[in-house]
Amino acid sequence: MSVQQRRIILRHIDEPGYTADIDCYMKHGGYATLQAAIKRPAADLVQEVVDSGLKGRGGAGFPCGVKWRFISPKNTKPVYLIANADESEPGTFKDRQIIHKDPHSAIEGIILSAYAIQAKQAFIYIRGEFPMGAKILMLAIEEARAKGFVGENICGSGYSCDIVVHRGGGAYVCGEETGLIESLEGKRGYPRIKPPYFPAVLGLYQCPTIVNNIETLTTVRYILEMGGKEYAKIGVPNDAGTHIWGVSGMVQKPGYYEIEAGKATVGQLLNELCGGPLPGRKFKAIIPGGISTKLLRFGEKFKIKDADGNEKEIGVEDIPLSAPGLMACGSSLGSAGMIVMDDSVDMTEVLANTNAFFAHESCGQCTPCRYGSLWIAKISKRICEGQGRLEDVDLLKSLADQVEMRTVCALGDALAWPVQSSVNKFRDEHLAKIQAQLDGKSLEPKQPWSLVK
Ligand code: SF4
Repeated sequence: MSVQQRRIILRHIDEPGYTADIDCYMKHGGYATLQAAIKRPAADLVQEVVDSGLKGRGGAGFPCGVKWRFISPKNTKPVYLIANADESEPGTFKDRQIIHKDPHSAIEGIILSAYAIQAKQAFIYIRGEFPMGAKILMLAIEEARAKGFVGENICGSGYSCDIVVHRGGGAYVCGEETGLIESLEGKRGYPRIKPPYFPAVLGLYQCPTIVNNIETLTTVRYILEMGGKEYAKIGVPNDAGTHIWGVSGMVQKPGYYEIEAGKATVGQLLNELCGGPLPGRKFKAIIPGGISTKLLRFGEKFKIKDADGNEKEIGVEDIPLSAPGLMACGSSLGSAGMIVMDDSVDMTEVLANTNAFFAHESCGQCTPCRYGSLWIAKISKRICEGQGRLEDVDLLKSLADQVEMRTVCALGDALAWPVQSSVNKFRDEHLAKIQAQLDGKSLEPKQPWSLVK
């Protein structure tokens, strides 16, 4: 049987006649969940989200309800909720679809979540390069305010919460929650050191703050509609619900596909939903969950355990689309932004492109990332420009190993993992390219590497 999408978050998006305005949203049941849930004790809503097993959809995959419970019951300071709409991970474009095509579902999720954690002020931190998304959100908030779903005395409950849309400056590192908080406070987006700066304890203005991604908060609206325990039945153990896969690159039908966790494989997504490779081409590799996740090479084999606990060998096309499935094969779900490459792609250039990105985006606060990202990018650049040395391949890996787990924020790991996986899995290709250059062949890079000076 061919694989089907299971659209929960995207249930109305792309339906003929479905518009993003509040009347259409309400005609389709919008804000009914808020009107019912706001009569319940806030702690009940937190319990529903804990029961649902929802994990953050921004990339880190931390359990959402557990994060909410980090706010101390003895807290006397104001509590803040921040919806992270920075979506700066290359290859990721799911939050943008929600914001552009169903903004009220995000706003309803934000108010429900704010009520659950008793925040009186919520922010949407949106990437500066998304002016249209910011405008859509601001208009939608005004529509919701006019109907009594945002602002003072929401739905006559006595609970009040406002939402402010804040546009960032467009730095990758401001997608990291503490960098985002610094930026929202009007400072340079330097990530904070954890501990002590866990946002649920010391967040915005040193007050307890929950930062959740837009898809996560939108999902809360659907969890509270169906109940946490019902939601937990969707998906697989340790990965409840659906994921919106944003597929880009060399497939016939790139786009976004909402799939129940673990109920389809990489091959089913790429061949059945995305229409397969481009004419005359074969799949070569994927980056499964945004550029910072580890590469998977078609042709490599993985040993995983099946449902009965028996070991079996699978290829990339057989990997289940779930957090545990990808982890068992040495990569991760990340933001579910899958980048697809076929056999026309030069993996040395892919790595140089990735490395240039991270060198450009390092905030420079900690030494391994500041220097490591630049050295890695420069070595990649020289390989692409025909000045590589055979020992550069091991040097790249050695540098990445020295950056990994030694930095203030996860950008250090994010820049190390693509290098490690590319060198491990495409070592032959990197060496062959350098050897060809040494032999006087193929010296021209396909792309200019202008980001790295
Ligand atoms: Fe900045 Fe990189 Fe350190 Fe993160 S790891 S704080 S981006 S220098």
